[in-house]
Amino acid sequence: MSTDLGLPTLRGGTSRDPERPQDPRLIDTFGRVATDLRISLTDRCNLRCTYCMPAEGLDWMPRSEQLTDDELIRLIGVAVHELGIEELRFTGGEPMLRKGLEHVLSAASAMEPRPDMSLTTNGIGLARRAEALAAAGVNRLNVSMDTLRPERFATITRRDRLQDVLDGMAAAQAAGLSPVKINSVLLRGVNDDEAPDLLAFALEHGYQLRFIEQMPLDAQHGWERTEMITANEIIEKLEQRFVLTESDEDRGGAPAEKFLVDGGPATVGVIASVTRPFCGACDRTRLTADGQVRTCLFATGETDLRAMLRGGATDAEIADTWRNAMWGKKAGHGINDPGFLQPARPMSSIGG
Ligand code: SAM
Ligand code: SF4
Repeated sequence: MSTDLGLPTLRGGTSRDPERPQDPRLIDTFGRVATDLRISLTDRCNLRCTYCMPAEGLDWMPRSEQLTDDELIRLIGVAVHELGIEELRFTGGEPMLRKGLEHVLSAASAMEPRPDMSLTTNGIGLARRAEALAAAGVNRLNVSMDTLRPERFATITRRDRLQDVLDGMAAAQAAGLSPVKINSVLLRGVNDDEAPDLLAFALEHGYQLRFIEQMPLDAQHGWERTEMITANEIIEKLEQRFVLTESDEDRGGAPAEKFLVDGGPATVGVIASVTRPFCGACDRTRLTADGQVRTCLFATGETDLRAMLRGGATDAEIADTWRNAMWGKKAGHGINDPGFLQPARPMSSIGG
């Protein structure tokens, strides 16, 4: 736990970094304020995307290490009520594999002020659950889909489930979870010729497409910079069929650079985490399924809130430990630094 024994204390008996101003929010030394909490609900998954995990899967987190629903709801309450979190993004692993998902969502959506809630999913089973997710308070969905060709989908995810994903998106839109956003990762020699087709599909259905640069967060540590399709390449590929103009909409803390397609109003986004990092505007804090706060996807350290919860800490103590953790957030992710080290946890366990 990152508590600093012997330092001045705040109300509730918690310790505080002496340099950190008395501010209830999650501020850091670079002037950023985290208002967006990304929560990993489970590290398990029913797909095996090649850029994320190996074919055999991973050693999943033991259930006893995972936060219970009540523990998770309590931490979300601390974040919303004490720390000024305005947005909750639920992810994983595959968040729909979490038992009690709708219960956690309903509890979060009843909090005041009501947080904006979104879910990032691979879409398997979404067709059956879209209405229940909307009823539980989800405002928006991001569905990951890298290809429109069934055989490529089976190659990339190692499961032949493209139709489930397509059906899931349609059901989400019908349930009012719109705009449905699609996340796509392009892989050299696999699906990198499909960028314009994916965009045409999104335009036709009223979905919002965003391409994500592949990041060094796979469990196998197989990422190679030369294999990554860069933002520039993605834009070039799209421009073979569409006219893109930079949108002048304020990006805020949003990771995607937005472009108007053929003059708009439709847009396409590119999340260039590697070649055009947006760390200076980052407004995120992260919670893993086993109750660890991370300041960044690429952080190498974590702060253990589960131990505090299980050790009887008060909400005020937990909130202050979370503030201390975020006060120590680094300026950037460092992917482009010569000494960069990939974090030990893979994306599927951190929560992408
Ligand atoms: N299973 C859910 C899904 O696929 O949407 C949620 C978790 S997944 C880790 C979240 C997003 O991260 C997906 O859009 C996925 O494509 C993306 N992702 C996974 N590994 C990645 C990597 N190494 N680089 C970039 N994006 C990655
Ligand atoms: Fe599962 Fe999402 Fe990773 Fe694919 S990207 S293996 S769907 S966690």
